[in-house]
Amino acid sequence: PPVIETRGLEKIYSAGTEAEVVALKGVDMSIAHGEFVAIMGPSGSGKSTLMNLVGCLDTPTGGQYLCDGIDVATLGREELAELRRDKIGFVFQGFNLLPRMTALENVAMPLGYARVPNEERAERAREALASVGLENRGTHRPSELSGGQQQRVAIARALINRPPVLLADEPTGALDTKTGEEILSLFKRLRDDGHTVVLITHDPEVAAHADRTFVMRDGELHEEGPYDTRAAHAS
Ligand code: ADP
Ligand code: ADP
Repeated sequence: PPVIETRGLEKIYSAGTEAEVVALKGVDMSIAHGEFVAIMGPSGSGKSTLMNLVGCLDTPTGGQYLCDGIDVATLGREELAELRRDKIGFVFQGFNLLPRMTALENVAMPLGYARVPNEERAERAREALASVGLENRGTHRPSELSGGQQQRVAIARALINRPPVLLADEPTGALDTKTGEEILSLFKRLRDDGHTVVLITHDPEVAAHADRTFVMRDGELHEEGPYDTRAAHAS
């Protein structure tokens, strides 16, 4: 079964008031385990709204979302938070690392102090850092790392709970082209290891790295197939 499946997904903000916004108008999307997909679309088209739903940060006002087979509508707040922790790793444009903590401490953050004993925290953080090629940077603070290294620390942190899905919002937006491509290569490797990668980007060159591309327009999702960068250059 797909790891992400939406059927007629709707999101209406401020329903029934003058400020009502229909942000998602019936989105059908099916993403299998081990796929790397990109979602593009202009500002205001509904990308953040869709990502907040797919990331279990918010619930839809209509339609259905099955996250790894679990219908999110059946869950309460606590259960939704638990599903989010188990299923989704988040990666952002700005890395969002804590400046006073080392790379290892940043990576271990999502484990929670109560839930996972210290020794296991350290071991899992070391493993996660090694999986992004940073085994020698564990004791460095973010300011002592390059932008690409900081983003890799953030990716290791996103992977620490071993979620099947990585949700990345403009993960290369703050990086130069070459460093961005290293991050995209890392995503492809994670895809090859069985992770599902969902990438939000404005950049067609970045979307071209994905297996499939969707475009949001005015709350509707359209599949564009593999993105053709030649067509983007011609227009
Ligand atoms: P981007 O274009 O990078 O996705 P936005 O500026 O559209 O960023 O949105 C940033 C955040 O603000 C999102 O989490 C979104 O849900 C929220 N947001 C966007 N528009 C509104 C709004 N009119 N009222 C309240 N929150 C909003
Ligand atoms: P994008 O990420 O593509 O920029 P968003 O999902 O942020 O798009 O926004 C889609 C629409 O929903 C926009 O009209 C935005 O103003 C509106 N919107 C987003 N978040 C909120 C919110 N929390 N409250 C009210 N309107 C919102």
